Amino acid sequence: MASAERPTPAAPFDPMMGRLELIEPGIAMFHGFANVAFAYGRGEMLAVDTSSRTMGAMAVKAIREITDEPFAFLIYTHGHGDHAFGTDAFLEDALSHGFRRPKIWAHEDVSGRFHRYAMTRGWQSHINQLQFGARAPVDGIFDEKSFRYADLAYRDYQTLELVGEAVELHHARGETDDATWVWMPTRRTAMVGDLIVSSMPNTGNPNKVQRFTLGWAEALEAIARKKPRYVLPGHGPAYRGEDACQELLLETARALRFIHDEVVRRLNAGQWPVEIVEANIELPADLAAQPFLAPIYGCVPFVVRDVIRYYAGWWSGEPSAMFPATRRDRAADVIALCGRDAVLARARALRDEGELQRALALAETELNADVSDREAMDLNADILEKLAARERSFIARNFFSGAARALREGLK
Ligand SMILES: [Zn+2]
Repeated sequence: MASAERPTPAAPFDPMMGRLELIEPGIAMFHGFANVAFAYGRGEMLAVDTSSRTMGAMAVKAIREITDEPFAFLIYTHGHGDHAFGTDAFLEDALSHGFRRPKIWAHEDVSGRFHRYAMTRGWQSHINQLQFGARAPVDGIFDEKSFRYADLAYRDYQTLELVGEAVELHHARGETDDATWVWMPTRRTAMVGDLIVSSMPNTGNPNKVQRFTLGWAEALEAIARKKPRYVLPGHGPAYRGEDACQELLLETARALRFIHDEVVRRLNAGQWPVEIVEANIELPADLAAQPFLAPIYGCVPFVVRDVIRYYAGWWSGEPSAMFPATRRDRAADVIALCGRDAVLARARALRDEGELQRALALAETELNADVSDREAMDLNADILEKLAARERSFIARNFFSGAARALREGLK
């Protein structure tokens, strides 16, 4: 995930938020909006991720209650703000204890991500405010000065030594292109960042850059081959026991491969992106019933979009969408044919039948024809609020709520 600085109503899936979970002696995980995994007990420790700018200090305070060891390494699992922006608290901890500064490790593409964030900081601030349902803008956190770049970067694979103990860094492309999963062979513990998010993996995020559905599945299969006893994820609870970890990793991979393969099959059969979206691909029932694949953050339709985008271009396949008439012109034509009142009446009837997407399309048509139509604004907001109320995906729900809120603000 990539959080705004104020992910206020977040934490839809973590009752442990703000607390440290002891996994076994020497392994712990702080539950933040994004988690921080710790390995300690041999004289020095490492942290996998540093959480967000606001939660990094909480993570440090929590681990300091159980160990005085210096941090040897901080490892970013990827460059998202909820995982890598809490670093200052860890560096200040080293300073205040008189320890040497920990070495920060990351995949080589994390620095490119930070540069991109700084270049597009206005956009980043805007979309993250909406995605995380924050009430206030999140200005400032995507500035160049917010990031602590890694001291050391690697490309495919890297081994570190923590007081003589091997620590493996593996590159993956899943939620991001710059992902690292950490494997500690002697502890049989995988610290995997957002390769596990305790939800349907959120490839195909509506406003973010390309993600990697197939690469994500391959990474989970590679982690499963290590036979971990513990999987410490980027969000949500720790997974314990070899069987539970195998099921989590391999079933999540199977779900991603299922969607990936279904989209590819349809592309190869000559279907256009719009046809594939309208086919409403669903997971097999046994996968859909898995609690760790619940569509509470990402959801299957978003994954479908990710796979389409990875292999196809931007065009939906609709001839009218190649050089589209403006929304205003198209809407005005419909209103001229049907009449405003009939369109709004039909939208209300569809809303009352629970056909919310169709109701929204019609209500939006009138609003596109006349942006000052207060009745249409109110109806649009009402339908969006109903959509938000029944939506399980945190991301989609926040976008519906944010759009409704903007309309309500306009009505004041
Ligand atoms: Zn992330």
